[in-house]
Amino acid sequence: MAHTTKSALLLSICFSFAATLASANNDPQAHHNKENAKTTSHKTSAPHWAYSGMNGPERWGELDQGYAICASGTQQSPIDLKNARLAPLAPIEIDWTPFLPTVINNGHTIKVDTDKQGSMVLDGKTYTLLQFHFHHDSEHTINGRHYPLEAHFVHQAKDGSLGVLGVFFKEGNANPALQKIWNIAPLDPGEMKAEKRFKPGALLPRNRSYFRYEGSLTTPPCSEIVSWVVFDQPIEASKAQIDAFAGLYANNYRPVQATNRRFILHSQ
Ligand SMILES: [Zn+2]
Repeated sequence: MAHTTKSALLLSICFSFAATLASANNDPQAHHNKENAKTTSHKTSAPHWAYSGMNGPERWGELDQGYAICASGTQQSPIDLKNARLAPLAPIEIDWTPFLPTVINNGHTIKVDTDKQGSMVLDGKTYTLLQFHFHHDSEHTINGRHYPLEAHFVHQAKDGSLGVLGVFFKEGNANPALQKIWNIAPLDPGEMKAEKRFKPGALLPRNRSYFRYEGSLTTPPCSEIVSWVVFDQPIEASKAQIDAFAGLYANNYRPVQATNRRFILHSQ
């Protein structure tokens, strides 16, 4: 178990999510040394963002130059999934392997870092599973309706683009796989390494019909580099499990953004 120090904590709160997304290497220094527009725009002086108040979602675009696209972008996420076009989409090829998870409370969510061995293939492109994390309520909605919880499985391709799988949870039976994460999730910012291997596939719905659209990160810097796949069938979590997360993060979701001229596809 390795709790971050208080000063490291401030950094980790502002960095961990974007840094993980922006680079297959979690080392913030390596992240900053990269000559990559979408990563260098996230400076060390970038202000803290939040889900409410003065630094809430409506203000993200003004908090830092590197966050401007949060306000000016036209392919932002999440969105309301409605009026989707039925399309002959191939099943998502998911090849996830069990791994020893590191469960991190980063000040914005509970995030689970993988060993980067799992992958998925989308449109012939291979993406590596970096991490997954949770939002309450769900970020995406279906016909305007939120689910109480949504998991995002963040994958990155060699060219830096991201493929994120969204899985909704509805209230129902206790979810044993989710419980393994909850059992070691730090209540305060910090991290905990699991001693047993975790099978991420246990958090996938049996029926894998899905929505597909092109969008963005749902947190600053809101980069429009994400191919989204959102499964339409929820899995279950108990009220106690949902309440446990809500006790840590009462509303860590970005409101839905304008769809604009994008197509939302739905697998047949
Ligand atoms: Zn997310």
